[in-house]
Formats: sequence, C-alpha cells, structure tokens
Amino acid sequence: MARIVQKYGGTSVGSVERIEHVASRVEKSYTEGNEVVVVVSAMGKSTDQLVELAKAITDSPSKREMDMLLSTGEQVTIALLTLALQKRGIDAVSYTGWQAGIETEDTHGNARITNIDTARIEMELVQKKIVIVAGFQGASRLGNITTLGRGGSDTTAVALAAALEANRCDIYTDVTGVFTTDPRVVKQARKLQAISYDEMLEMANLGAGVLHPRAVEFAKNYQVPLMVASSMVDEIGTMIEEEVTVEQNLVVRGIAFENDVTKVTVSGLPNKIDTLPTLFKALSENNVNVDIIVQNQLDAEHVNVSFSITECIIVETLRALEQVKEELGFTEITHEGELAKVSIVGSGMASNPGVAASMFEVLAQNDIYIKMVSTSEIKVSAVIDEENMVLAVEALHEAFRLAEEVEVVS
Ligand code: ADP
Ligand code: ASP
Ligand code: MG
Repeated sequence: MARIVQKYGGTSVGSVERIEHVASRVEKSYTEGNEVVVVVSAMGKSTDQLVELAKAITDSPSKREMDMLLSTGEQVTIALLTLALQKRGIDAVSYTGWQAGIETEDTHGNARITNIDTARIEMELVQKKIVIVAGFQGASRLGNITTLGRGGSDTTAVALAAALEANRCDIYTDVTGVFTTDPRVVKQARKLQAISYDEMLEMANLGAGVLHPRAVEFAKNYQVPLMVASSMVDEIGTMIEEEVTVEQNLVVRGIAFENDVTKVTVSGLPNKIDTLPTLFKALSENNVNVDIIVQNQLDAEHVNVSFSITECIIVETLRALEQVKEELGFTEITHEGELAKVSIVGSGMASNPGVAASMFEVLAQNDIYIKMVSTSEIKVSAVIDEENMVLAVEALHEAFRLAEEVEVVS
C-alpha cells in the first residue's frame, strides 16, 4: 500500500464528464489498495471568469475579497468530485483549504504556505476515506481565506504530499509530461523522461506554466517524488527528482519563455554610493518585483539603470520612480513594452563554456536583437521583441537539438 497525492488541473476537471473520468481514475488507485488524497483546481477557465466578474464591478478590487471570490472555484470541484465518488459507492469527503489545515501568511493573492496541520486528513485516511482537497487556497492565522497565486493548486498538492509523507505526488494535467518546451507552441517539443528539481525550478520560474514554481521548491526541499502526467492518456509522465541521468550531449535541457515583459530605463542617475539602494528600495516598497537589472556608465558622474518588470505593474513602477525623482536626481524615465524573455535551461551549462555565445549566435542569425541578458549557473535568458518570441524558441530548440531522441548515459 502506498500513500499517494494526486492533483488534477482545471482542464482535467473542466466538465461533468471529465470529473466522472477523474473519479474513475481515483477509484482505480484506491481499489488497488492505496491511501489517496486528491487536490483539484477550479473547473476549466472558471477562475478567469471569476476575475472578470470582479472586474465588471471595479478596477481596483480589494485583495481580500478577490481571494474570497477566487477560492470558490475550487470549492465547486471538490464537492462535485466527491459526489461522483460517492455515487460509485466509495467513501470520500471534501475539504476546503482551511479545513485541510493549510495555514498561510496573512497576505492575499500570492500567499505562502506556512504550516499544514494534517490531523483531520489523517483521521479520514485511517477511516479508509478518500480525501478531496481544494487546491490554491488556505487560511491565515487571523482566519482570512487566502490564495497561493495563479497555478497554485500544484503547490497545495506537493505541500500536502510533504506534510503527509506521501510516497508520491502525481500532477495530472492536459499534456503528457514536462516537455523540452511548451508543446502547444513548438510542435517539435519532446517529452522528457526526467528532469532535476533545479532545472524544473528554473523552467517554472522562467515561464514554463506546467508547474507552479513553489510546488517545485517544496518538492526539492522535502524530496517529494514528483511526476507530471496526462489525466486523459495512459502514458508514463516525467519524473522530477534530485539527480537525473545525463542525456548524452545535452547541455540545454529545456527552453522557457514568457511575454508581457517591459523594460524600464532610468537615465542620468548620479553615480553615488546610495543611488542603487535608494532606487530599488523605492521599488520594493511599492511591491514592484524587478527581474533583470543592467547598469551602464553614461559619463564620469552618471549612470543609466534599466530593469525589466511584468507589463501589468508599469503604473506602480512609474509611480514609485516619480516618488524618488527629486531625491535621486535622474533626468528621465523611459519604458519599452511588448517584449518577451526567452531562456535556455540545463545543468550541463555550468561546465560548458560557450552556451551563451551559441544562443546569441542563433538569435543573430535570425535577425533577433537582444535587449537584455541575464545568466545563472544553469540558464541564460535574453529579452527580445515579443513578435520574435516563437521564432526564437523554435530556432533555439532546433540549434540545441532538443527534438532529437537521445541516448541516456548511466
Ligand atoms: P493545469 O490546469 O493542469 O494546472 P496548466 O495549464 O497550468 O495545467 O499547465 C499545463 C500547460 O503548461 C500545458 O497545456 C502547456 O501548454 C504548458 N507548458 C508550458 N511549458 C511546458 C513544458 N515545458 N512542458 C509541458 N507543458 C508546458
Ligand atoms: N484555479 C487556480 C488558477 O486558475 C489555481 C490552479 O488552477 O492551480 O490559477
Ligand atoms: Mg497549472
């Protein structure tokens, strides 16, 4: 007997028929003798629809009420899936996030899980019940309902698997695993047998929406064996684990990308010791999350600083900069939108010089100008025009031979 946490995403529970299908899969795992805890997302696009409803009322909804609203999506699915299991004569029970003991910070929209009290779930498992838990939500110590950020049901599943010391956490979704890049964008994308926690974390942070980054963080920190597989097709998925057998010749394992990037440039900043701290403190105090930062020397006394943000926080960013304009004494703020970030990821990069050079060469051959660059031990990211994003991903996928089946070196 194993203890298994399964998670089914929005598309996989997008209709009554699909919920029935999920129920039959859950029933199968249970009748094989396993203890099963299931985490589900809101049906289909219902979270987006809830966001639209709030927008129809106000442009600036309070974050607390948004969490109250969005958390209802998952509550619908847990009840329906539980009913589908009960109809099959199986003892199942549904739990919202707070009922399942998921405690989070008292912030809204993107709260972190701080603790999980598994007592109630354990009690149900002892009674041989299947427990169905609402993903993406929890409650703070103050008793406020919170949500974990878009895509956060993955994190609920992995965090529960860690807290319950489950043998496995299986993430069932609308693709058959983790691919070399998004298979909905690049036809040649190839499914990976396995990927390391570190590589997956980079991919997720750099825009590969298949897993929520914090889910990968939990999996790594608590060494949860994690698998991504299809909820529809019976096919072995992708394992995410600590050590992965190296695929021959493969320095780059995957390509991630995201659009809606904006580059902001603050020009003519006096080159003083406290310029950068003042500038970035003002941004962080206004909750502006900055990604890539580049500084250029303008003349002996002045520098220009550019940084990238997601497009949706441009208003807050400009407001924060205006607040410190006098204190900093810069001459101008400019910004450029409709950009994208394309990143190549692979742990083999650390010991292989020249990967960045190859990436820049491929982009240049395709007439794609690079606006910003950032690197880490296992990734290189380039900010480019959004209109070139797909071309860049396809060209890099081809150049780094990611579509080719590779021999595994043991
Ligand atoms: P769910 O609702 O099941 O959580 P998501 O839409 O959040 O599903 O995640 C699955 C989607 O992630 C896929 O449909 C695919 O378009 C996208 N995706 C992005 N990058 C990758 C990748 N490298 N491998 C697989 N899927 C990816
Ligand atoms: N329903 C939430 C969302 O759409 C959480 C999730 O699906 O993981 O973002
Ligand atoms: Mg998801």
